[in-house]
Amino acid sequence: MKKLFSKSKVIAFCLLVVLMVVGLTGCKTKNDKVIRVGTNAEFPPFEYMDENGKPTGFDIELITAICNEMGYEVEIVNMEFKSLIASIQTGGIDASIAGMTVTEERKQSVNFSESYFNATQYIILPIDSSITDIAQLNGKRIAVQEGTTGDLIATPGTEDSMITDTSTVIKRFKKGTDAVLELKNGGVDAVIIDSSPAKKFVSSNTKTLKYIDTNMDAEEYAIAVSKDKNEILDIINEGLIKVKENGTYDALIEQYFGEGDVVIRKTSDNWFINLWYTFEFVFISNGGYKLILSGLGTTLLISVCAVLLGVVLGMVLAFMKLTEEKKHKKTLLSRIASLYIDIIRGTPVIVQLLIMYMIVFQNRIGVVAAIVTFGMNSAAYVAEIIRAGIMAVDHGQMEGGRSLGFTYGQTMRFIILPQAIKNILPALCNEFIVLIKETSVVGYVAVQDLTKASDFIISRTYETFIPLITIALIYYVIVKVLSKVFAAFERRLRKSDKR
Ligand code: GLN
Repeated sequence: MKKLFSKSKVIAFCLLVVLMVVGLTGCKTKNDKVIRVGTNAEFPPFEYMDENGKPTGFDIELITAICNEMGYEVEIVNMEFKSLIASIQTGGIDASIAGMTVTEERKQSVNFSESYFNATQYIILPIDSSITDIAQLNGKRIAVQEGTTGDLIATPGTEDSMITDTSTVIKRFKKGTDAVLELKNGGVDAVIIDSSPAKKFVSSNTKTLKYIDTNMDAEEYAIAVSKDKNEILDIINEGLIKVKENGTYDALIEQYFGEGDVVIRKTSDNWFINLWYTFEFVFISNGGYKLILSGLGTTLLISVCAVLLGVVLGMVLAFMKLTEEKKHKKTLLSRIASLYIDIIRGTPVIVQLLIMYMIVFQNRIGVVAAIVTFGMNSAAYVAEIIRAGIMAVDHGQMEGGRSLGFTYGQTMRFIILPQAIKNILPALCNEFIVLIKETSVVGYVAVQDLTKASDFIISRTYETFIPLITIALIYYVIVKVLSKVFAAFERRLRKSDKR
């Protein structure tokens, strides 16, 4: 009688924990021939997402060439710009390449390779702006990319600031494209950003934007490496010399900074034709449909795996909690389960996701981190669904079973559970639908799901309306179809109930 709860369920629970630990240690095992390099693929032409949602650009090709030249593989990890240095310090990545300027402050935290590029800061303005000099931005509204040298220059009071008027409004964005979008939408008067991305952004918006030079001192871009990994710094410096000697570096400069291929967009005065042109531009000529399809696949993969994990773990938790009903007092197992459920339900899923990805998974395999997070999160809710479903079965049923000579376990299995299933399944289906929508935050940990796909498309095309409405529609259709399927399923369960 005791065994049903104590042994098999506990074993299953332990197994799951062991599997997770093994999985995690497995992914932490280092391959000596792989250098993990962080970037922030929002800084064209140095780093940006290609149409398949993979980081590419001058920096990515350069670091790949450098490492390959030295006999190493590169693993690119995409993250926020301001997390790069912290991630190098915690060992999440070995190095970073992200158009990063060498500054005295950054040198306190990381070592820099030899410089590989010179840049200056530019100002992007609306095409009809009368501003001709950085000093004229005093008292205006400026958009910058958070944590960059552009941010330092714009922020009054910092050592490098060119702006003295404290009434100047500084809007900080995680991505250069978002800063540019803000400018296009009239939310700011200027964007301060590095010269090459400024040119790139303006080249895709030649009718509405222009740029001017700040005429400030040149900045040097270099690769940042952990202070504890001098051997990697040596490899990178040696590789950099080699790619400069063998012509790869010059070829990349020509490829990324030679005369650019500006995308020509068709426009029309007719609103409907224009809408079609935009649609065509966003989804077809820019390859947006591929991003959407692969994003959809990722969203479904995460949701399905998480719901399976959630059901298994949720069942274990529910039975752990039910030991309390059986013993008529709190048990160790029920306390553990209650604590787990309490913590999970008491903290935001996005925070759980960040902890799982950054701390437990050390910025690796975001998809698995997302599955584990949403699975573990869902388990807390599933456990309550299962427990409530079982408790809802009339108490007399348990007594009836026991008086027939069944053990507690047998009564559960043959009498209670078959009835409880009918209460549980509809709520579980609902949980699945909620989960699909909740997974839309996985973009935070660089997973390319459906929502993140729209984000990429916006960065590539500067169009917001069509990508966002399309994504919303896709979620809506998935939820609607699933609700219909589940409702039909529920009706069938009810029918069999009446027999
Ligand atoms: N060069 C700037 C800096 O280092 C911007 C880099 C970036 O946004 N990727 O702060």
